Amino acid sequence: MSSGIRQVSVLGSTGSIGVSTLDVIARHPGDFSVFALAANRSVDALLAQCEQFKPRYAVMADEDAAEQLRARMAQVADTEVLSGEQGLERIVTAPEVDSVMAAIVGAAGLPSTLAAARAGKTLLLANKESLVMGGHLLMQAVRESGARLMPIDSEHNAIFQCMPADGQARPKLKGVSKILLTASGGPFRNWSRADMSDATPDQACAHPNWSMGRKISVDSASLMNKGLEFIEACWIFDVGPKQVDVVVHPQSIIHSMVQYVDGSVLAQLGNPDMRTPIAFGLGWPERVAAGVAPLDLIATARLDFEAPDEGRFPCLRLARESVATGGTAMAVCNAANEVAVDSFLGGGIRFTDIPRVIETALGQVKVVEPTDLSVVETADGEAREAAREAIGALSH
Ligand code: NAD
Ligand code: MG
Repeated sequence: MSSGIRQVSVLGSTGSIGVSTLDVIARHPGDFSVFALAANRSVDALLAQCEQFKPRYAVMADEDAAEQLRARMAQVADTEVLSGEQGLERIVTAPEVDSVMAAIVGAAGLPSTLAAARAGKTLLLANKESLVMGGHLLMQAVRESGARLMPIDSEHNAIFQCMPADGQARPKLKGVSKILLTASGGPFRNWSRADMSDATPDQACAHPNWSMGRKISVDSASLMNKGLEFIEACWIFDVGPKQVDVVVHPQSIIHSMVQYVDGSVLAQLGNPDMRTPIAFGLGWPERVAAGVAPLDLIATARLDFEAPDEGRFPCLRLARESVATGGTAMAVCNAANEVAVDSFLGGGIRFTDIPRVIETALGQVKVVEPTDLSVVETADGEAREAAREAIGALSH
């Protein structure tokens, strides 16, 4: 690549997206360099990454974990260890930083994602929950600072690639009639409601095509992941909910499509490996190798499509309804889902209780205009409370 070494901060570096990001970066030592790494509490994993990538900074979510990392850092690297939101803010706003990979999971990623957008960085956005929760604020920050938003979620990355090529985060929609958002259908695509009510966390996390963190895996099984992505598409591409259709495509080879007024449909295809959208985001506007095997169309043999079943998968309907409601409804939907998924993973509720908990929270929490971060955080807190109460009522 031509434009010198790009300095990258990787948030959520020990997770599935974080590890894939570092894999791509390691393939191009002359093009990208790791400025900082951040993780929640996985001290061993972050230490090993610091040893390999020698970043300027490493950030742990709390001071206790940071202290443990600091104690062991001296022997392996010259990395300064920071902690908490302040540490994250420092590594996303530092003037040396070109690109920020936002790959923390859940609402916890919102403040740092917003700070990167406000600082005008190239924002490689994997953390979809931050956009679902604070889409209005995040898109406003991107517009005002001139930050470049590169969608890393494979579907949105595919849509970006199929949009008119003007390189804008919100491509001009001239001639675009619809976004066709593809969904694998998840591990329970053919399961009955009755079978799903007995599903275990391990069954929900056994995705047929993608290997991912546990939270997003459960979301994929419930189709809430597609619901969050539906909201994400409306924000990133500045379209209304009527302009996005969900299409179930079990092979996960087409990552999404854009339909134009002249009848053309453009699709992006590839093996289901997140290193492709990550490499696209890191390298844009050039293409860099991602380590992904070439697509073998003969071995793939066929591409199937079917309609989503919102009767068996109510989470998709709930997400669509929350976009239509607008305001803080999307933050409520997201927060209630996080609490419900956490409870399901911990054995607290059944898989089929997840949409029940979300629907209860959506019915209880008052929706307001998301004027600033504190309003969004209040809605998030109220939704978590309502979801916990709903879970309590279910287990009695
Ligand atoms: P994961 O659970 O594998 O990793 C999460 C990372 O975030 C870890 O490094 C963890 O240490 C860190 N983290 C968690 N809480 C934190 C906190 N409070 N402060 C700092 N760091 C924290 O998750 P993942 O599958 O890599 O997903 C990350 C994000 O990317 C999610 O928002 C997910 O929806 C999105 N995404 C993931 C995939 C995928 O294939 N895995 C695809 C598309 C989008
Ligand atoms: Mg996706």
